[in-house]
Amino acid sequence: MHDSFPSPYRCPAAFSPLPSPAVNNQNITSTNKIIRRRPHNKTSTTTVTRMSFCVLGSGSAGNCSALLLHYPNKPKPRVILIDLGLALRDTERRLRDVDLALHMVDHIIITHFDSDHFRPAWTNRLKKMRSTVHFHLNHWPHANRAGAPEFKHETFDDSNSNNKLNKNSKPFKLAPGCTLHPFTLAHDVEGTTGFRFDTAAGRLGFATDLGRVPPHLLQSFNNLTLLALESNYCPQLQEASNRPHFLKQRIMGGRGHLSNEQSFDAVRHIEKNSPDLRKVVLLHLSRECNSPGRILNIYAKHPDLSRKLIITNQTKPTNWINIDAPDHVEMPGGPTVHTQHHLFASKTNHP
Ligand SMILES: [Zn+2]
Repeated sequence: MHDSFPSPYRCPAAFSPLPSPAVNNQNITSTNKIIRRRPHNKTSTTTVTRMSFCVLGSGSAGNCSALLLHYPNKPKPRVILIDLGLALRDTERRLRDVDLALHMVDHIIITHFDSDHFRPAWTNRLKKMRSTVHFHLNHWPHANRAGAPEFKHETFDDSNSNNKLNKNSKPFKLAPGCTLHPFTLAHDVEGTTGFRFDTAAGRLGFATDLGRVPPHLLQSFNNLTLLALESNYCPQLQEASNRPHFLKQRIMGGRGHLSNEQSFDAVRHIEKNSPDLRKVVLLHLSRECNSPGRILNIYAKHPDLSRKLIITNQTKPTNWINIDAPDHVEMPGGPTVHTQHHLFASKTNHP
């Protein structure tokens, strides 16, 4: 069953210590290797053992998503919000619906400063919050106008980037056990920012409001466990709409949004390079020029991919999507060895 319009789901696990990954300290066979499982009592307390993701709302009327990072033996997860495009009261209400609250938020990442991703009315509230707001240095002029000097913020930029395809992609440590890989994308004048979150539990790729899919996005979005990508409009509905010509050109001209087909092609490409991809979350559907039915028609010939789909909407939070760490071993002096794919224990909760 598709999670087209999931109901709010309360996630009690978000606030209770998670058990360490199941380990029994026996020798086990992995892909052509005999490895020794690591005793769980030595699992690092800075290892992310579960990543939980939920879209509070997505669309041209406002965007906000939540990402939780869970650690062994810690009662509370790190809480990250992506974008503040919903009204304050609405955000608080939706956070309550998924058992969160603003005072719990550690980090806020802003993809870009269009009003559906950052409402300037947030500035006053952010001044009273302990959260750090992160955004790309390219967006400083807009952020400055929105009041960024008045709240706790950090910018990231392209200095010392070695990525030849995209200079604007210097990774940084966002939280213990979580590295953020940002990259810039074409969108209107100022562009937007896409991200890959790397943790021991899995990798999340997040990109919305992009006029086209550039090679550096496909390069970054490999071996993902979870993908969140926009699927904004149906070209036929866009053409047939009463929107003025300049607006249609803006949306479809390569610096606006992704059509369903462009998004689908990217998802197919990313899936081929992500053998453990568990869920595909489609963001930012146009209410006027798109529908879940049109998207499902495109995916209909690919039932395996179709089963992974979660189509977000403007009004209701999605269920929590939980991605648990695969059983892993840190060999003395060596890299972490991941065991078989089936040991990934991701699951989507249902109310
Ligand atoms: Zn937007």
